[in-house]
Amino acid sequence: MSEIAHKYIVMSGKGGVGKSSVAANLAVWLSTKGKQVGLLDADIHGPSVPKLLAVDDRKLASDDGHRVQPIEYSENLRVMSIGFMLSSDSEAVIWRGPMKHNLIQQFVQNVDWGRLDYLVVDCPPGTGDEPLSVIQVLGGADGAVVVTTPQEMAAIDVRKCLTFCRQVNLPVLGIIENMSGFICPHCSKRSDIFAGHSGEQMAEDFHVPFLGCIPIDPALGAASDRGKPFVTLAPESATVQALQHAFEPLLNS
Ligand code: ADP
Repeated sequence: MSEIAHKYIVMSGKGGVGKSSVAANLAVWLSTKGKQVGLLDADIHGPSVPKLLAVDDRKLASDDGHRVQPIEYSENLRVMSIGFMLSSDSEAVIWRGPMKHNLIQQFVQNVDWGRLDYLVVDCPPGTGDEPLSVIQVLGGADGAVVVTTPQEMAAIDVRKCLTFCRQVNLPVLGIIENMSGFICPHCSKRSDIFAGHSGEQMAEDFHVPFLGCIPIDPALGAASDRGKPFVTLAPESATVQALQHAFEPLLNS
């Protein structure tokens, strides 16, 4: 752990808000800045990082000392996920809390991460066993990046997530509002597909930074499905600029 300079936990109150997409794009973006980065997929029941980075066909190997080697996505980005241990996409992991805690502990302590500038952890949604285990085994993180969507239904659960962070003394590095409006590619008019601006309001209410809004962009969804991190695909797109703007404050020296 002492070899990891910064530890970021990407969290959300609800599933499907784009948390894994944010985590994967953040890790890839940091690696493009020349940083040594690890991406740990702690979503044991729904690991999506291997697919998001198109490394789902890779197999894990261990060294002589029985430390597991993370999958190398690139020269300076290493990835670990339970997805690398499953025989098929439809295999379900049916485990109770203690087994999940053990696995998360192994992922942190028994994986040969080497020296990292950043470890980005994609945490499963909610405030249950896994986020608690992640915080415990990391032995203190820089903080959480909390992902939400604009509508109030998502906000209700994200408020719980922010309260959780407060109670476990995990600083909130900022809130990202994903799927925030849609810019028509034909007329450039903005439509708010989901009503509300819950992210900014929550940041104000909880006195935490608001990192920014990411629009709904079918190209981002399509890139994710193809395992291409969008942040490196289309630098000129407004969505990529929004991602970069949100990530900028997370780039420490
Ligand atoms: P979570 O980790 O919160 O469950 P994911 O990152 O898996 O969410 O995203 C859920 C789905 O939404 C994925 O298909 C992803 O490609 C898509 N998605 C995420 N963010 C956006 C966005 N800004 N625009 C379009 N599609 C998105």
